Amino acid sequence: MKGYGPVLILLFGSIHLSVQDTDTARCSNRMTEMTARSLLMDKYSVQGDCYNAISKQIHQELTASITYLTMGAYFSRAEYYRPNVAKFFLDSASEERDHAKKMIDYMLKRGGDIDSTGNEMKALKPVGNKVVWESVTDAFKDALALEQEVTKSITNIISACESQKYDDGKQINDYHTADHFTSDFLAEQHDGTRKLAGFIASLHNMEEHHGALAEIIFDTKFAVPPQ
Ligand code: FE
Repeated sequence: MKGYGPVLILLFGSIHLSVQDTDTARCSNRMTEMTARSLLMDKYSVQGDCYNAISKQIHQELTASITYLTMGAYFSRAEYYRPNVAKFFLDSASEERDHAKKMIDYMLKRGGDIDSTGNEMKALKPVGNKVVWESVTDAFKDALALEQEVTKSITNIISACESQKYDDGKQINDYHTADHFTSDFLAEQHDGTRKLAGFIASLHNMEEHHGALAEIIFDTKFAVPPQ
């Protein structure tokens, strides 16, 4: 055993050194991240009410994603099988997740931080904790109400970012953020709400002629019109 002493010292010594090296590497990576962010933080970075509005929006996009995922799963069940409607909701869930991802990316690009354990990812659950819908129309109506809320919330981001106030009392119009949310997100909101309103109206008209069969016909023929 005596003869192994120097080997063990060398072995544990090298493990200790490698742990220290990893810690040092982690620490220097963290320093690099902090430095990179602080380099992006100037008077034109996203902050204050503008930052809070975008942070809230990321949470709302993720909530929309989980809501649509729940709707998609609900209409995929054998008990209430509406496969094309389900696909529409599942595709919408992916779209909303992509919106959140785009917004996270934008925040980081503009010197903002993401509080992944706090605001943006906090208590994600479907809107109103609802997991059962009495009909496809019921789900479309919920989706429309959700999208109208999202539109309102994006409008709030634009207002907050085009009139940012700073500690020194100065006001700066963040043209880029206002433009980014107006052109990239608001335009898509208007298309999305129009589409949902159209689905609800079509289903309503079909129900007048076909009663309960309308929903099955709608699902069979259901094709999302091109943008
Ligand atoms: Fe969205």
